[in-house]
Amino acid sequence: MTIESNDLQLHTRIAKSGILIKELIAFFRGKCSNCGHQKIMHDEFGKCEGVMNKPCNSGCDNFNPE
Ligand SMILES: [Zn+2]
Ligand SMILES: [Zn+2]
Repeated sequence: MTIESNDLQLHTRIAKSGILIKELIAFFRGKCSNCGHQKIMHDEFGKCEGVMNKPCNSGCDNFNPE
């Protein structure tokens, strides 16, 4: 399976979900309310991996929104 077909499958799944690609991009470019880094720097558990090789110590992974 080529990378291109994986991309195509993901695009198809995103399209079926009703989410627009531009909405996803806007979401991931948005800032984390806890540490202020872009959401794209965070993993699936919400833990921030930091930027420019500097670890983020804001504790996003155990942040509980009120
Ligand atoms: Zn964060
Ligand atoms: Zn961070």
